[in-house]
Amino acid sequence: MTDLANSFAAHFVGTAIVPDDERYETARAVWNGTVEARPVLIAQCRTVEDIVAAVNLTRDAGLPFAVRGGGHSVAGLSTCDGGVVIDLSPMRAVAVDSTRGVATAEPGATWGDYDAATGQHGLASTGGLISTTGVAGLTLGGGIGWLQRRHGLACDNLIGAELITAEGATVRASQSERPDLLWGLRGGGGNFGIVSRFEFSLHPVTTVLGGLMLFPIDQGPDVLRAFRDWAADLPDEGSMLAAVLTAPPEPFVPSHLVGQKAVAILGCWCGDLEDGATALEPLRRLKPAADVFGPMPYPELQRMLDAGAPAGLRNYFRGGYLSELSDDVIDVVLEQGAAMPSPMSQIHLHQMGGAVGRVGVDATAFSGRASSYTYNLVSTWTDAAEDTVHIAGNRRLAAALGPLSLPSTYVNFLTDAPGDTDTPVRAAYGDDVYERLARLKREFDPTNLFRANHNVRPAR
Ligand SMILES: Cc1cc2nc3c(=O)[nH]c(=O)nc-3n(C[C@H](O)[C@H](O)[C@H](O)COP(=O)(O)OP(=O)(O)OC[C@H]3O[C@@H](n4cnc5c(N)ncnc54)[C@H](O)[C@@H]3O)c2cc1C
Repeated sequence: MTDLANSFAAHFVGTAIVPDDERYETARAVWNGTVEARPVLIAQCRTVEDIVAAVNLTRDAGLPFAVRGGGHSVAGLSTCDGGVVIDLSPMRAVAVDSTRGVATAEPGATWGDYDAATGQHGLASTGGLISTTGVAGLTLGGGIGWLQRRHGLACDNLIGAELITAEGATVRASQSERPDLLWGLRGGGGNFGIVSRFEFSLHPVTTVLGGLMLFPIDQGPDVLRAFRDWAADLPDEGSMLAAVLTAPPEPFVPSHLVGQKAVAILGCWCGDLEDGATALEPLRRLKPAADVFGPMPYPELQRMLDAGAPAGLRNYFRGGYLSELSDDVIDVVLEQGAAMPSPMSQIHLHQMGGAVGRVGVDATAFSGRASSYTYNLVSTWTDAAEDTVHIAGNRRLAAALGPLSLPSTYVNFLTDAPGDTDTPVRAAYGDDVYERLARLKREFDPTNLFRANHNVRPAR
C-alpha cells in the first residue's frame, strides 16, 4: 500500500480505492465514455469529516485532485489522471423540512434522489432533465430544468451552502452569511471549494402536464416558427424544449417515423392542468405525428428522458445562448440537425425567460439571464473510431451558430478542456462576472487548488 493509501486508511471512514483494487474500474468510470482518466486513489467519502480529510491529505501530498458529485461532467472534470478523485457519490441523503419549505441535500445526491424525497411532500425545486445527473455540479453551474420559468434555475433555488475550503475549513454561505460566496456558488461552479451541503427552497409541485410531441423533419420549418411565436407568449408555468432528434422505436411513435429525423417539442406545465391543456392547443393544431403530453407526477417527468442518456456512451456537447429563435437559427438547426450522422445525437433548444430572466444579471454568476433560448448540441455515439467525425460535426454546427449567438455560454454545456488559457471560461461568463469570480477565488482558493472545473484563475 502506498503512503497516501496508508494515510487515507488512518483518517478516513469512507472507502479509499487504489488501482489494484478489484473495484477500481467501476469506481473510476464517469458518465462520458470518452473520459478515460486513471486516478491514483478514489476517496469515496461518507461524511463531511471524510471530505475535510481528503482535501487535507491530498493537498499535503502535493497531488492534483478532482471532485465528483453525480459524475456527469461531459468535459470529464470530475476525474483526473495521476491524482485523487474526491468522490462524494456515497453521500446522497436529502432531508425535507416541509414547514420551512427547505430541502437539504448531501453533495452526492442525484436529481432522482432529490425528487424522490421532495416529491413525497408534494414539493420540488428546479432540477435537471435527467434524474441521474448530480445535484452538485448542475446547481453550481446554473441548472436548467422543467420548472425554471416558474421557479427559476436550480441555482436560484439554492439558498444556503456549506463549503470545505482549500485549507480544510468550513464556511457557510447564505443571504445573511457570506452572500458574496452564495453569489459565486450560483453559477460559478466548483471553483471555491467543495460544497458539503446544499439548501434549496421548495415549491408546491405535484401533478404536471408533461410529455412530448413529434413532427416529421420536413414540417420542421413551419413547426419551429410556429413554436417560437407560441412560446413567446407562454405563461411562466410552461417551460419548453424544442429538439431535433431521431424518432425512437417507442410504441407511441408511428412506424413510418421510427429511425427518421424529427422535430420534438417537449415540456412541462406546472400550473392548473386545464389551463395547460388550453395553452397546448395551438401546438396540437400543428398535427403532431405523436403526442404524449398528459398529466403525470413531476418526479415521473424527471425520469422521462433517462433511457436516452445512459452512462458509458461517447459524448461531446457544445452550448450557447440565443437572444431569439431567429429564422436563421432555425434554418441552421434543421439543416445540420438533419445531417447528424449518429441516431443518438440531438440538438436541444431550451426555452429561457420567465423567472430566469427576471433575476438581475448581477444577482448570480449565471451568464444567461438575457437569453431567450439556451442550445445544447448533444453528440452521442458508441465507436471510438468515430470520435473525430462526431466531434468535428458538432464543432461545425457550433461554428455556424456562433455568429447568431450571444457572446457568453453556459459552462455546464462546455466539453472542451480549456488547456493553458482562461479564455473560454472568461468568455463563457463575460469579463465582469469573470473578474468578480476571480476576486472571490483569490479569497477562497488563492493557489487554485480547485482547478478540475471550468476554472476561474485567482485575481492577482
Ligand atoms: C445526461 C446529462 C443531462 C444533463 N441535463 C442537464 C439539464 O437538464 N440542465 C442543466 O443545466 N445541465 C444539464 N447537464 C449538464 C450538467 O449540469 C453538468 O454536466 C453538471 O456538471 C453535472 O453535475 P454532476 O454533479 O453530475 O457532475 P460532476 O461531473 O460530478 O461534477 C461537475 C463539476 O462540478 C464539480 N463538483 C461536483 N460536486 C461538487 C461539490 N460538491 N462541490 C464543488 N464542486 C463540485 C466537479 O468538480 C466538476 O468540476 C446534463 C449533463 C448530462 C451528461
